[in-house]
This record gives sequence, C-alpha cells and structure tokens, in this order.
Amino acid sequence: MSKSPSVSLPSDANASGRSFGTEEIAELEKVIRSGTLNCTRGTAVKAFEERFAKWLGMPACRAVPSGTAAVHAAVAAIDPEPGDEIITTPITDMGAITPILYQTAIPVFADVDPETYNVTAATIAKKITRRTKAIIVTHLFGNPCDMDPILALAAEKRLPVIEDCAQAFGCLYKGKHVGTLGTIGCFSLQQGKHMSTGEGGMVVAGDPALMRRMVLFTDKAWGYGDPNPDHYFLAPNYRMTELQGAVAVAQLGKLDRMIARRIEMAERLTAALAGVRGVAAPKLTPGGRDSYWKYPLRVDPAVIQGGADALGAKLKAAGVFCVPRYIQKPAFECQILRDRVTFGKSKFPFEGPHRADEPPIVYDRAETPGTTDALARVVVLPWNERYDPEHVDWIAGVIRTAAAELA
Ligand SMILES: *Cc1c(COP(=O)(O)O)cnc(C)c1O
Repeated sequence: MSKSPSVSLPSDANASGRSFGTEEIAELEKVIRSGTLNCTRGTAVKAFEERFAKWLGMPACRAVPSGTAAVHAAVAAIDPEPGDEIITTPITDMGAITPILYQTAIPVFADVDPETYNVTAATIAKKITRRTKAIIVTHLFGNPCDMDPILALAAEKRLPVIEDCAQAFGCLYKGKHVGTLGTIGCFSLQQGKHMSTGEGGMVVAGDPALMRRMVLFTDKAWGYGDPNPDHYFLAPNYRMTELQGAVAVAQLGKLDRMIARRIEMAERLTAALAGVRGVAAPKLTPGGRDSYWKYPLRVDPAVIQGGADALGAKLKAAGVFCVPRYIQKPAFECQILRDRVTFGKSKFPFEGPHRADEPPIVYDRAETPGTTDALARVVVLPWNERYDPEHVDWIAGVIRTAAAELA
C-alpha cells in the first residue's frame, strides 16, 4: 500500500481527543473547597441536573453513576414482574442488557435494519408477546431510530419505550432530542461518550411519577422529605458524586460545540467518500440528525475483496484505528445470555414457575439476519470533537486507497 504520511489522530481515551480544561478544574476546585463531595448536600450535581434537563427541554432529570445505572433506573421504574420480557437490540453495550436481568425481566432481541443498525417497528412487532413489558431502543452510533412508527406501535400495545441515548447526545428526530420522545431517556457520561465525567449517566422522563420512582430507585428508595419516610422498595445507591457533577457542569457548557464539531467533520468525510466504490457512508434516518458518536463505514463485500475485515486491516496498517464488526457477535451470543449465567445456578429469570405457562426463550441467530449482515459489513471509525479537516482528509485518502486496492 502506498504510504501517505501518517497523521496522529486524537483519541477519546486521553487529552488528545477530549475537552477537559480550566473550566472543569475551576468547577472541581469549588467542590473540593466546599468540603461537600456528596450530592445529597452539594450543589454541583443539582446544577447539572437542572441544566441538562433544560438542554433537553424537559422539566427534570436525574444524574447517576453510569449509563448502566441509567438503564437500570429506567427498567426499575417500569417495575417488571419476574419473567416479563423487555425487547431490545442485539447490537448494544452489555450495560444496557444486564439491568433487565437484575430487575428479573428477560431480554428479547428484535433484529436491526442492516443499513442503519437500529431496531425498527417491524422487527419489534415480531417480538411482542403477552409478557412484553417494555421496549428499549438504542440510537446506535448517534443516528436516531425511526421513532414515529415505533411510538405508534408502542401506543397501540400500551408499552413504554426506553430510549438508550448513551451514543446519541444531540441526536435529533424531527427536530426533537432523542431521549425526550419515548417514556424514559438514558444517557452515559463514560470516558468515550459525547460529553464525559469519566463515568456517569443521566435518566429523564416527562412523567413525574416515573421521575419520582427513578429518583427513589437511585437513592435506596428512601423517601427524603416525606412526612413518614421509609425505604419503600428494593433499590441500590446510584448517586453521582459532586466531583462528577462539577466536571459535568463544565462539559455541558461545551456540549453544543463538541456535537457541532463531530457533525461538521463527519459530513466532511461523507462528502469525501462520495464515489468510493464498495464503501458507503452512514445511512441517515429520514427526519433525523445524526450526532456521530462513531462513524460506521458500510462495506460491500461484493466489491471489496475480503469485506470489512480486509478493509479494516488495511486501515489499521495505515494508522487509521478502526473496529471491523463492532461488537463482533450479537449480544445474545455472549456467555451471560447464551449460558444464562445469572443468579447462582438458577438460570433465573429465564426458568422458574413464573415462566411455567410460557414457551422457552430461544436466542437464534437465524431470527436476526439484519444483525448478522450489519456486523459483517461494518467498519467503525472512532470519532471525537478534536478531529479537524486535516485528520478527516487524511482518513478519506487512506480509505480511498484501501478500497481501490481491494476492489
Ligand atoms: C456506553 C453505553 C452504555 C453503558 O454506559 P456505561 O456508562 O458504560 O455504563 C449503554 N448503552 C449504550 C448503547 C452504550 O454505548
């Protein structure tokens, strides 16, 4: 392969691809000097919650220690009975699946559209049973699910929709923020997300009763401020610390700029890739605004010899880090779900009297052809707010050369 001079790309694993600076340090210093590092008494997490809710155009939200905790709070608020089913996607982070099991429900997997990598109303509809309790949709890589048909289906079946927006800050659908369209929205503030506190998360709901339940769930279900407070139900401590809150406040001040930069650079790459045979830019959802957590290339193995793996190998050899096949296999083929490694040897909640009248849950790759196709063809490029035109033009050149060599 012809060697173009290598460019060092910014990484979201360290300062090269993140935007932490004097603002974060100033907010942190205020918290440290206050001596209050806990959000029950402090002001930083509260300020972040207020400002993030405002940013979304919602009345309130709740900060939690991770995206996993956010999904956990959402599922707990829905309060499934043991053995109920929650429909989700096989292309997601395990942190969006384990909370379903912790709340004694069973994850059921709808297929994805092979071109957008997102679940659809049609694939969800096939998985609805009398035990379905909720639907989780994931706006993968920052591109929104096609929400109107999903919300219409959910309304018809009277099912709540949890939106996993961990990868989708600033992603819009018909002009509205994802996370505000369904019943509950979940966000992650993990190191590599659009904005970060190292670890962290948020949940948001328009329904005050659900919001209240999530606030209780994230604080041992203790009824602070009630006339006769008690621990009302089973709940962990999922409070965010003031240290995270301080960084979150500062990051939120930069969020719109960071999102705009990701979009601008991604659109530059898309324009540069026009006409490259065998490699397609992300397919955008009609009515959506992709906020590009990552930039997924779609490889046509009929044109590119060796498909995603071969293209990925060439990009890496040239210095463009990438992840062919993203999570490698659908979530239901991971050990925890394949072998049902849950609570002791019980295989709970997959098995037990609460499932006595139901058919067994079967995870079968043959039922998710879109997922198999999507994972086989995708090469995921990392992306962050520090990419500039020089980086993008270099990446485009490497892709163009690699595609030509493999065509
Ligand atoms: C990152 C991520 C999560 C989990 O978030 P953590 O903060 O790592 O717990 C959940 N869902 C999706 C889609 C994610 O990308």
